Amino acid sequence: MERKNAWLTYSPEQLEAVEALSASYKAFLDHGKTERECVRLAVSMAKDAGYRSLREAIREGKPLKPGDKLYDTQMQKALLLFHIGEKPLEEGMNIVGAHIDSPRIDIKQNPLYENSELAYADTHYYGGIKKYQWVARPLALHGVVVRKDGTAVNVVIGEDENDPVVGISDLLIHLSQEQMTKKASEVITGEGLDIILAGQPLQGEEKDAVKATLVKLLKEKYGIEEEDFLSAELEAVPAEKARDFGLDRSMILGYGHDDRVCAYAEVQAMLSLPAVPEYTACCILTDKEEIGSVGATGMQAKFFENAVCEMLHLCGGKAGLGLRRALANSRMLSCDVSAGFDPMFAEAFEKKNAAMLGRGVCYNKFTGSRGKSGSNDANAEFLGRVRACMDDAQVNWQTAELGRVDLGGGGTIAYICALYGMEVVDSGVAVLNMHAPQEIISKADLYEAVRAYTAFLKTMGARKDEL
Ligand code: MN
Ligand code: MN
Repeated sequence: MERKNAWLTYSPEQLEAVEALSASYKAFLDHGKTERECVRLAVSMAKDAGYRSLREAIREGKPLKPGDKLYDTQMQKALLLFHIGEKPLEEGMNIVGAHIDSPRIDIKQNPLYENSELAYADTHYYGGIKKYQWVARPLALHGVVVRKDGTAVNVVIGEDENDPVVGISDLLIHLSQEQMTKKASEVITGEGLDIILAGQPLQGEEKDAVKATLVKLLKEKYGIEEEDFLSAELEAVPAEKARDFGLDRSMILGYGHDDRVCAYAEVQAMLSLPAVPEYTACCILTDKEEIGSVGATGMQAKFFENAVCEMLHLCGGKAGLGLRRALANSRMLSCDVSAGFDPMFAEAFEKKNAAMLGRGVCYNKFTGSRGKSGSNDANAEFLGRVRACMDDAQVNWQTAELGRVDLGGGGTIAYICALYGMEVVDSGVAVLNMHAPQEIISKADLYEAVRAYTAFLKTMGARKDEL
């Protein structure tokens, strides 16, 4: 039951479309290295396509009608897009949901210190990382510093070619006899991920003169006091730009494919829908997936449910019962990346159930660990309809499982949305070296993700599975 390589199916026009999409996606990755930046980019794309603020619509209180397009943000770190369809909201939506947070190194709240005439930022890593991958490489600082008066400084340092970069040092190989015998998980410790920020002492300063240089620079250049770190969200991320990968340029190397590749594909799909889709289309870009979908901007929060409730109210639906119906009658692709089969680590996979780069969008019926623990196990009836939807649209797709049984595992937002009673299956792009500072995808799989999500949003229909 092998699936064909998507590249072999493309016409010259499609190959051009793959290249154009890849170029715009690389620009999205370069400008969207944090969840906040991704929200800003996606809102601006949506506004250009005629979306308006749901909050504004709520304030106006005017009824919504089929064809209306709305966006809603949650604390600037999560985003919802709705494109109202012909059928009443109570009949359910076609939903695509991805996350826009990626593993990274966060700056602590009280971060600055000096040691041996180097000034450092203390950090706390975010998400699942192999810590040794984050040393000895250029890092950029992104985020926001909020002052006590409420004003905010948006920070992006290390992206412009003329910017300095920062980073974490590693021990020289010459003195690494002991380090090299350690387990990979202990080679670099969490507290060992501190970032070098400065190395020049301030004239006339006696104690911590290098830190003094740094504090002075932060004040003069950015208007930030040391105390302002108390209310900041600063993320150290790989400073490199996304690049074509492979001599044939068939792949993209970049930071944060997990899960911005699916997020970008979703937004592209949403913006390509007809003026009035059959069912209301919804795109979720959520935060905090990498740390368990927690907090007010994670999928476990109620912002999605609240927004649907507001939409329903403005569409003239029944409060309470209408909301339950709208959610339970919905269909969703939980769009998240999958582990691409890596021949260098073949023993980690069971090959015929592994996602192959270039064979199109992957469907994971279940994820989870051990005996599928923590998984959403999609129902067969839904998968049957999804297969038909994909084949009708001539999408290249494959099925996949996240590695060999009992080796590890992972989860997505699928199981959370499934709690509403909606039909949910995981669907995403295969990634090599997932969660590394630079990940690899195939351009063909990005293209197929857009085609898959478009077909799903446009044509997926209601279920008929009652007994
Ligand atoms: Mn993910
Ligand atoms: Mn992940």
